[in-house]
Amino acid sequence: MLVVALTGGIGSGKTTACQLFEKLGTPIIDADEIARMLVQPGQPALNEIAKQFGRSVLTTEGTLNRAKLRQMIFSDAAKKNLLESILHPRIREEMAHRITQLDAPYCIVAIPLLVETQQMGIADRILVIDAPETEQLKRVALRDNQSQTEIAAIISSQATPTARLAVADDIIHNDGDLKRLQQQVEAHHQKYLSLSMTI
Ligand code: ADP
Repeated sequence: MLVVALTGGIGSGKTTACQLFEKLGTPIIDADEIARMLVQPGQPALNEIAKQFGRSVLTTEGTLNRAKLRQMIFSDAAKKNLLESILHPRIREEMAHRITQLDAPYCIVAIPLLVETQQMGIADRILVIDAPETEQLKRVALRDNQSQTEIAAIISSQATPTARLAVADDIIHNDGDLKRLQQQVEAHHQKYLSLSMTI
């Protein structure tokens, strides 16, 4: 099966593009959803996080206190690496497992931080959703209750468009309306169906 990794910056349109691919029948594997699943109570990754970071990262109900954990890894590279060493191999393993369960010509693995976490090797092709920063700012401000300054800070903490585009096999330019996005998704869908017959 052809595996396409889909990535892009915050507000570039990843979720919207995935929904459009899904409507065309493409299975989507979502790295963020897996990451959230892995830290549910009872999951080995959550136990490991509590062991390494202390029980103060758990709420009284035993769920992950995300704000506390974020605060602990903020500007502490060693702690951030430790957290990633717990989560990333498990996310990769679960993604690989889910891929083996699928029966489809191709699938999309949505990995927002593909470039930041250097996971380019996971897929046969990399599809980058690219949007101008002005659009990212506008769309995220409409979607989330965050200020322009907060959104700009997230954008600057992520990979640059140049770094993302450098690893792209395919690019969707999400700088127009939703209809234009849909047309590009459909064109890529046809391309992936054709490519899937050659591997
Ligand atoms: P991401 O998953 O990359 O953060 P989303 O797909 O959630 O981005 O898109 C961010 C917001 O912008 C959403 O509210 C979405 O509905 C909207 N959006 C995405 N693409 C377009 C577009 N081409 N035109 C108008 N709104 C868009």
